[in-house]
Amino acid sequence: MNTFSIAIHGGAGTLVKGMMTPELETQYKQALKKAIDHGYVVLENGGSAVDAVETAVKILEDSHLFNAGKGAVFTATETHEMDASIMDGKTLNAGAVSLITGIKNPVSLAKDIMEKSEHVFLAGDGAMEFAKEMNYKLEDPEYFYDEFRHKQWLEIKDTDSFQLDHSKTKDSKFGTVGAVACDKDGNIAAATSTGGMTNKKWGRVGDSPMIGAGNYANNKTCAISCTGSGEFFIRGVVAYDVACLMEHKNMSLKDAATEVINKRILELGGDGGLVAVDAKGNMAMPFNTEGMYRASKSSNGIEEVSIYK
Ligand code: ASP
Repeated sequence: MNTFSIAIHGGAGTLVKGMMTPELETQYKQALKKAIDHGYVVLENGGSAVDAVETAVKILEDSHLFNAGKGAVFTATETHEMDASIMDGKTLNAGAVSLITGIKNPVSLAKDIMEKSEHVFLAGDGAMEFAKEMNYKLEDPEYFYDEFRHKQWLEIKDTDSFQLDHSKTKDSKFGTVGAVACDKDGNIAAATSTGGMTNKKWGRVGDSPMIGAGNYANNKTCAISCTGSGEFFIRGVVAYDVACLMEHKNMSLKDAATEVINKRILELGGDGGLVAVDAKGNMAMPFNTEGMYRASKSSNGIEEVSIYK
């Protein structure tokens, strides 16, 4: 039997230790632990990597602490526009969605696009039409409301600036969520979900729903979910770049992921991190910021829930 493992993130950034209260830190760690444990149980019971990453991401989307699903950041027009993606490393099937509103679990809609449509990527009104056909229930805007995110938005509304989660304050971080997993059959998958950037406008879309940029999975190499300054992660084609280094330069998962996060994307000016797994169940969670909400768990005994370096 293959080693099975799962790694998740809840965003990266300048998580200044002193600015986090012990209570809040406990809440974050509990939310991460709940997500990793539920995803791990799926794998333990012989479930697929795809089902494990969906399970973990849904739990993070349901928590107001992260910038995805409930707690997603506000756009320039005080709405929530969410993006998500999922990829199956066994078949290279993928599903992605962007600029959707009112959907409780965008990752599940991305999975339905992968499994129940002929397409890979649906956006905006069309994606909402598809969700309607799939009988998704729409949540009221109040469901997604979070006081802290609203305050962040009030500080910069009516300006031209947009920001990665609360990057204007010293405690800047990216609150996107994601998961990667390797199941008992050695199949891998990745999923990512986000509310994007505070005060974003013009239908801005980041890396999270873009296959190859913020999310990628291929049994031959790795499964990757990213968080960080999306514009740079798109230009760096970050998730696929890690896979390319493994495939064409024979690098290990850890070396390839570290090279991209600590060198290539930094040289481009981007900050953030990623979680990665390969088909042998190895994991890597590099980030070039002060912290990244993250957790990992593997059948070989590894178990970690961390925030700082
Ligand atoms: N990468 C996301 C975006 O640019 C932001 C994040 O990671 O929090 O939309």
